[in-house]
Amino acid sequence: CDRFEIDAVAVCDMPRIAVFEHLRSAMDDGRQVALGFCNANMLLKALCSASYAAALKKLVLLNDGVGLDLCSLLFRGRSFRENLNGTDLVPALLGGETRERTLFLLGARPGVAEAAARNIALRYPQHRVVGTRHGYFAAGEVETVIAEINAVAPDILLVALGNPDQETFIAENAHRIDARILMGVGALIDYTAG
Ligand code: UDP
Repeated sequence: CDRFEIDAVAVCDMPRIAVFEHLRSAMDDGRQVALGFCNANMLLKALCSASYAAALKKLVLLNDGVGLDLCSLLFRGRSFRENLNGTDLVPALLGGETRERTLFLLGARPGVAEAAARNIALRYPQHRVVGTRHGYFAAGEVETVIAEINAVAPDILLVALGNPDQETFIAENAHRIDARILMGVGALIDYTAG
């Protein structure tokens, strides 16, 4: 994709429709895409932490928010084509998909992912939430969490652990997670739960 690069971080400048096509074809062809939505807060964290920057390098990053857009304007003289964030993009993706997609919701406080799953079932009856897991697990439980995800091999894994944990989790584990699309989505699970 066309990129905005600042220090070690490269953010794709893609129109939303191209993002949808990319994700759809990955799901249809069984390829994996690990996605992050980069806002100014994440960019600052990456500029201050080489390990977080290295984790972000393993993800396809999309631009989220006015802060990043301002950086793009200042450093390369133009804005991003569109503002893309998980809170808008995921509902639009699910709403536009007629083919059944399966989802696993990982993150948020206990009970919240289950409430979000009920709302997804009401809003998008064509899709299926095949697993949920709250986001307050210890480092020693990562293997169990991954085994739970792999047991159902979802098309879409939504990871809401906050930054930098969600991007780090995806970057470190994507290669052994049986899911097509992995996305760090911040407060989306809370938001979907209502
Ligand atoms: N979260 C989580 N585990 C954690 C920390 C946060 O599951 O150890 C969840 C939190 O409940 C919320 C989401 O991650 O649903 C985003 O959290 P927060 O708003 O703190 O993240 P940020 O806005 O910093 O990305």
